[in-house]
Amino acid sequence: MRFYRGLQPFKVMSFDLDDTLYDNSDVIRLAEERFLQCVQEHAQLSDLTSEYWREWKWQLVEKDPLIAEDVIAWRVETLRNLLIHHGKSAVEIDRTLALAMEEFIEWRHKINVPTESIEVLNQLKDRYLLSVITNGNVIATRIGFEHFQLSLRGGEQGRAKPHQDLFHQTAHYFGVKPNEILHIGDNLTTDVQGAIQAGCQAAWINLSGKDLNSFTEASVLPTLEINHLTELLTL
Ligand SMILES: [Mg+2]
Repeated sequence: MRFYRGLQPFKVMSFDLDDTLYDNSDVIRLAEERFLQCVQEHAQLSDLTSEYWREWKWQLVEKDPLIAEDVIAWRVETLRNLLIHHGKSAVEIDRTLALAMEEFIEWRHKINVPTESIEVLNQLKDRYLLSVITNGNVIATRIGFEHFQLSLRGGEQGRAKPHQDLFHQTAHYFGVKPNEILHIGDNLTTDVQGAIQAGCQAAWINLSGKDLNSFTEASVLPTLEINHLTELLTL
């Protein structure tokens, strides 16, 4: 554990989900593959490659930059635009949207949660109030996390991290000052910069083994750095 700022007493621990409490990379790739297969099959779009899909996603962001903050709405509206462009009927569009999103959400939750994460949270919940602030689309209870009193998702309850919105909503919900929240996350921008600029404290989980200085996105120092979640038990 390494400290960059003095740790102040805190009452709430808020957690990022993806790549903080579990490894997310394979799951998201597989969920995206299954999603595109489902669209190909039900909308007869045999040439739907992941590259083509990404082009459509970014085209939508050019028109509506805020939609990228809600990853579910972004996916739904991208697919809707793409299906309209390919001349699908309203009935076909509704059916494909429902089936493909169901497929995506199901595969999105096929996450191998490390026992260690559950055990750490089991111990922390007796000492602190626990909450989630995610920019992703995973529902914590659906993958076995029953520890959180509050779960906020970027785009759904407010502006996505690094915006201060969800950090301040968390403080308001628990009736604490922002600096009584320690936010734990892997991302130096959304988690660390977001939490510190909202007046919270930030624990950066560094799974890379590389030094903080080697990250160009490290514009704001975290309160502390850890390499394993178990280190949180020693605070
Ligand atoms: Mg993350």
